[in-house]
Amino acid sequence: MTTRISRWIETDTGHRVPNHKNKCCHMHGHRYRWEVEIEGDIIIDVGTSDEGMLIDFSDVSRILTERIHDIVDHSFIVYEGDSEAIEALRLLGDDHRTVVVPFIPTAENLAKWAFEQVSPYIKTEYDNELRVVAFHVRETPKSWASWKA
Ligand SMILES: [Zn+2]
Repeated sequence: MTTRISRWIETDTGHRVPNHKNKCCHMHGHRYRWEVEIEGDIIIDVGTSDEGMLIDFSDVSRILTERIHDIVDHSFIVYEGDSEAIEALRLLGDDHRTVVVPFIPTAENLAKWAFEQVSPYIKTEYDNELRVVAFHVRETPKSWASWKA
């Protein structure tokens, strides 16, 4: 038996899927939702702030903000092999928020990326064991992808 919690944040982020046969090859953006799912043991340390929790939701929120939001919000995520888009983004200057990644920035690949960005930081100062079991990335209300451990 185990307990599972989830927390999400949102960002406004641009991307494109360079090889896409349809409209996703155009530069565009989404109101992305980044949702982490954590499983583990409940903290039993009597009298502590986190007693009865896996981890404080506000700590999860801070980690998501630092590791995801502050990197990709109002940024454009571009595949390192997408030379046309990289050239176009370079024209916008060094101040433009461009995030170059070694993969095509589909929801599927971003879910794996986000999982790896966040997982190492999901821990508490108590001895309870925590595991990030899944990361969900939603592009639209009708479409999202999940990466699972
Ligand atoms: Zn898209």
